[in-house]
Amino acid sequence: MKTVSVLGATGSVGTSTLDLIEREPERFRVRALTANCDVDRLAAAARRTNAELAVVADAACLPALRDALAGTATRVEGGRDAVIAAAASGADWTMAAIVGCAGLEPVMAAVGQGGTVVLANKEPLVSAGEIVLAAAKAAGATLLPADSEHNAIFQCLAAKDARAVRRIVLTASGGPFREWSREAMAAVTPEQAVAHPNWSMGAKISVDSATMMNKGLELIEAARLFPVDPDCIEIVIHPQSVIHSAVDYIDGSMLAQLGPSDMRVPIAHCLAWPERMATPMEPLDLVKLGRLDFAAPDQDRFPALRLARDVLKAGGARPAILNAVNEVAVAAFLAGQIGFLEIAAIVSDILDRYDPPAPAALDAVLAIDAEARVIAGERCQATPVTRVGA
Ligand code: NAD
Ligand code: MG
Repeated sequence: MKTVSVLGATGSVGTSTLDLIEREPERFRVRALTANCDVDRLAAAARRTNAELAVVADAACLPALRDALAGTATRVEGGRDAVIAAAASGADWTMAAIVGCAGLEPVMAAVGQGGTVVLANKEPLVSAGEIVLAAAKAAGATLLPADSEHNAIFQCLAAKDARAVRRIVLTASGGPFREWSREAMAAVTPEQAVAHPNWSMGAKISVDSATMMNKGLELIEAARLFPVDPDCIEIVIHPQSVIHSAVDYIDGSMLAQLGPSDMRVPIAHCLAWPERMATPMEPLDLVKLGRLDFAAPDQDRFPALRLARDVLKAGGARPAILNAVNEVAVAAFLAGQIGFLEIAAIVSDILDRYDPPAPAALDAVLAIDAEARVIAGERCQATPVTRVGA
């Protein structure tokens, strides 16, 4: 039996993970489930899975969680430190599915105990990739990518020799505004931005997909996880989201992974790895699909792509700043404070103005993340709302 923990258990990825775990109760035992403050969903999940521990990051939600789990064997805890402790509570397999850099310390705690850590939560890899990877190596932890593109690349990386890889092709749906002009995008509302054509996801990553910052974050994530030169990672628009990414070898073979656009497929790969497990997904019907389309991305309409490639090349503190400012700007956009196009504009502006030295350790990354958030918050306040109808 595998003991499993799910950090961010009430979110989109967390719920998909629990769906798979609950289908095979003889195979998985749940150690810890965490959430920010979703008491009802967290308590329901803890009851269904007989979780040993349930934790809310927001300590103010602890009394409600205690009430909701009264009479069960599940221990309850609250607060950020309790989430970090839960991440290191000895599970064999941990799903990191908190959203944003809030997941960085829990990810560090999880990798620090060895075992298998599955990364859906991409922001820690962007902000502190080298530090997370070094901690995993030191502790002998196994990192598995759950992000569908990176899971696809992982599955296609059959070559033992990194020099045999010519190129990684990172596919992108292009999001809901793939064919929109900049003028049309200026008037986008939060409701339009979170309605992704192919995937059902949390609000933050849905907005990131709409600005294509998600693909920028994933470019950095891919460069951290896979040993290729960043220039050898090519982003290709593929609107159907059937090919989740591909690896091009020097001999001319290209291996791609195909599957339905449902996160349960890559999560199942990570749950059973190195074996396989069944999922309830219908098999892909290629005849019904009929065709697959590809196009080059447009960095002028989606400047987040260029920003991400620039910060990846520059390294140091730049990726952490890009990520922190983006998190603040996305939250401000969702709150109706700034327009859609201002998200990337604010990221670009603050990257021009804030240039601290490269962080050598986790504390320095957290300090840069915190300072960038303050600067970004002030910048969002100062920006006039350009959203039509606001
Ligand atoms: P979500 O918003 O649906 O869920 C986030 C989870 O994190 C919730 O359980 C929430 O309670 C918890 N949380 C939020 N803030 C927290 C905090 N400050 N401290 C502790 N817990 C907190 O998000 P999601 O769509 O499931 O995405 C989670 C992560 O996985 C993101 O990093 C995202 O980029 C990545 N990802 C998601 C998908 C997807 O299909 N949704 C695909 C690939 C990667
Ligand atoms: Mg992805």
